[in-house]
Amino acid sequence: MTPLTIRMNDRDNVEIVANNGGLPSGSALQSGLILRDMVPQGHKVALIDLPAGAAVLRYGIPIGYALKDIPAGSWVSERLLKMPPARELDNLPIASIRPEPLAALEGYTFEGFRNADGSVGTRNILAITTTVQCVSGVVDFAVQRIKSELLPRYPNVDDVVGIEHTYGCGVAIDAEGAEIPIRTLRNISLNPNFGGEVMVVSLGCEKLQPERLLPPGSIPIVDQRAPEPELDVVCLQDDAHVGFMSMIDSIMQTANQHLARLNARTRVTVPASELVVGVQCGGSDAFSGVTANPAVGYCTDLLVRAGASVMFSEVTEVRDGIDQLTSRATTPEVAQAMIREMAWYDKYLERGRVDRSANTTPGNKKGGLSNIVEKAMGSIVKSGSAPISGVLAPGEKLRQKGLIYAATPASDFICGTLQLAAGMNLHVFTTGRGTPYGLAAVPVIKMATRTDLARRWHDLMDVNAGTIADGTKTIEQVGWELFHLMLEVASGRQKTWAEQWKLHNALVLFNPAPVT
Ligand code: CA
Repeated sequence: MTPLTIRMNDRDNVEIVANNGGLPSGSALQSGLILRDMVPQGHKVALIDLPAGAAVLRYGIPIGYALKDIPAGSWVSERLLKMPPARELDNLPIASIRPEPLAALEGYTFEGFRNADGSVGTRNILAITTTVQCVSGVVDFAVQRIKSELLPRYPNVDDVVGIEHTYGCGVAIDAEGAEIPIRTLRNISLNPNFGGEVMVVSLGCEKLQPERLLPPGSIPIVDQRAPEPELDVVCLQDDAHVGFMSMIDSIMQTANQHLARLNARTRVTVPASELVVGVQCGGSDAFSGVTANPAVGYCTDLLVRAGASVMFSEVTEVRDGIDQLTSRATTPEVAQAMIREMAWYDKYLERGRVDRSANTTPGNKKGGLSNIVEKAMGSIVKSGSAPISGVLAPGEKLRQKGLIYAATPASDFICGTLQLAAGMNLHVFTTGRGTPYGLAAVPVIKMATRTDLARRWHDLMDVNAGTIADGTKTIEQVGWELFHLMLEVASGRQKTWAEQWKLHNALVLFNPAPVT
């Protein structure tokens, strides 16, 4: 076995072992350095003698400080590192980098469903919005009946999904922060993959009343003959309902009208600029920042060049690179909005007496990521190199093109839920440890950071970026592979593995406000 190691930056004094299974003590690296310890795959080797207190550099920045003398050739495990403090949020470089504008990428298209509001869906799905968790069992029952009895009559409709959640009642609905789950749920109902068709199932006595969730003016016009759309609500406590089947019949009748309209739609050729892509990572390892995330970053640049929208998120995973982000902002206002979101999140974490270091998992550490600083440096590269042209607070809807910072927790299912609310029509998810993550409302393309994971999870991972570490493909090649796959998936010509197996995670609303 030829020892294979990867260094990210010329300044680095550590590099990671790429070999599957790691390298035994005594192995000679290509530089001639002899390993003093067994070093697991993805973990760091000291390239020089690091005296106690010395900065350990990866990605060209200090990811930690040596707690004791670390001789060259040693395994630099997280136990040997002290984590640096978070960067202060003042005196940051503001819109200081003026990158050369990226050359426009023209001529790429996909087949999508054009909506009345101008957005484009990659799938044609009936969504049944719920105001409160109480109705979930009933909606599940109705969805099963709709799928088996109605959906076969509407071949142009891909699926029926219940927008179910744990919010809606037993919550301090006027508290500071409560606007986040409410606008998230509202904006999810308006996701481009639902074709502008909005129907709601309500209990009746809940705090989150249908008119509060979707006030007049928030529902799109889908029928030009009825330019003032009324909210379609099935209320289970309505006096008209006698017996459970009356509720189910009522939901099915309402669904039938929406299905008929959705079924009348067909795919049309649209430019790649209509893609709204959300990128995130989960179950990360040391290869995330070496293989999959740089390939996603390259693809992000391609998408921005094609005029599309790309959102990157996960506050705690970019917090340590805030200076990189504020310097890439197109305007001082965008940089200030980013700082505002970071400061809000710092405070939110302080309420629980933790900081961004609470992010890392046992699996991250096993995969070679010593701390959140190292994880963040690998996570942030998903954003590529384009200027950052906008910022969204959690649950807000995206209204512009280009590279956008959508502030969300790093939690996979909460981040995905918030990106759905922003209007994502395609999701890209990178993983090193492996996760079967999927969403019912949008296709999720999953990318493995290591060939070993792609081999074992061959029917769950859509792209193998491990080829970059193996030396058989370049970052650019995998970036283009992802770009072409996105157009295929967006057009409905190819299904992702998560779609194939119908693997769907629950929607999880981000509620920073109290429950009662
Ligand atoms: Ca995540």
